[in-house]
Amino acid sequence: MGDQFEKDVEAFFAALPAVLDAAGPNHRTRLSAYRQLMVAHRMVGFGIPEEYGGRTDVPHANRRFQELAHGRLPKEESSLGIGLNMAVPIILQFGTEEQKKRFIPAALSAAEVWCQLYSEPEAGSDLASLRTTAVLDGDEWVVNGQKVWTSGAHLSEMGVLLARTGDEPRNRGISMLLVPMKQPGVEVRPLRQMTGEAEFNEVFFTNARVPRDWVIGEVNDGWRAATGLLAHERSSLGKVGADEKREASGSAAVPFHYLFDLAMDTNRNTDPLLRQDLARAYTGEKVMGWLGQRSVHPSVGKLWRTKQARFVASLAAQISMSGAAAHVSGDKDSEFWMYHILNSPRMSLGGGTDEIQKNTIGERALGLPREPS
Ligand SMILES: Cc1cc2nc3c(=O)[nH]c(=O)nc-3n(C[C@H](O)[C@H](O)[C@H](O)COP(=O)(O)OP(=O)(O)OC[C@H]3O[C@@H](n4cnc5c(N)ncnc54)[C@H](O)[C@@H]3O)c2cc1C
Repeated sequence: MGDQFEKDVEAFFAALPAVLDAAGPNHRTRLSAYRQLMVAHRMVGFGIPEEYGGRTDVPHANRRFQELAHGRLPKEESSLGIGLNMAVPIILQFGTEEQKKRFIPAALSAAEVWCQLYSEPEAGSDLASLRTTAVLDGDEWVVNGQKVWTSGAHLSEMGVLLARTGDEPRNRGISMLLVPMKQPGVEVRPLRQMTGEAEFNEVFFTNARVPRDWVIGEVNDGWRAATGLLAHERSSLGKVGADEKREASGSAAVPFHYLFDLAMDTNRNTDPLLRQDLARAYTGEKVMGWLGQRSVHPSVGKLWRTKQARFVASLAAQISMSGAAAHVSGDKDSEFWMYHILNSPRMSLGGGTDEIQKNTIGERALGLPREPS
């Protein structure tokens, strides 16, 4: 028999199907219903103080919950990565008391879903060249400019925005603002990917408004919080992935056992060359798991997961090209592989490209000379 926490987790999962059924097919409605149930069962905010909607009374609650919940969370969970893994930790670290009370409970319950408004058409890897501006007008900031590749902006109530607020060059005149997305000055236009999904967007700001106090840290000193958030992003990338029902969601390496099943189902498991590659994929997954348990530099973990995701996807394509690239619409298995094969290149870009991770490891972990700017 498990302890009280384990019983509470099981009670939550017992109640979940009925709540999702009642919520119907709409993604946002299901997401809210599911997170509100989590709040009711106190299954959110592990390690976060109670006054901000979390709980600290169960040791190792986060790790234990992840283990007990493995493969059982609905796919809607993947829309919360930016809020829970990036915005909340950064508000906890750099935010004021008012900001913590205002934003963290709403992020935990999914009353507010978050997006990350960093990249611009001329500022991706070179983020410090961003051009979106925020100018103070009385008690509000007025925001103008354009962002791009904003994951989940179409589902979001709030965004973490980097904008130029000072005249200083490069990263010195930048502030981090918390911007309400549902307002007339914010226009979200979807971008369709080769998977067929439209998970990210262009976002246009035309005199959008942000309350004066919704700046994280000091004005013109947003860079520290900005890079802190990127480290959280790199650490968390890849944790969301395929669930046991084989529903495609998010960016992650497909678990090895799916690949193994595919090789068995297609009678390719006796091919000696393929068996070597399967062993490599299995080893890669093991190494990835071990890296996850150690506090390696976030860029090392992200690079490894990218390598693993791309290798597994390329093997799946080799084993079952007709079942994936030329997939049968409506067939769950082939749609699953089609999504992951076409989705895997994104891992090398989102959260910073492979080259940028290598530069970061060289400079910050190995102490090599900095790149000339
Ligand atoms: C799936 C996905 C989701 C994303 N979600 C978001 C999001 O929610 N919010 C957001 O703000 N952004 C998001 N992005 C954008 C992402 O952060 C950028 O695509 C990424 O930082 C690269 O920027 P870029 O596309 O402008 O490419 P560029 O910076 O123009 O890079 C082009 C090429 O040049 C290389 N390069 C550039 N500089 C160097 C250098 N100094 N040394 C060596 N090589 C270099 C790069 O590695 C790359 O190969 C997302 C991207 C993807 C793919």
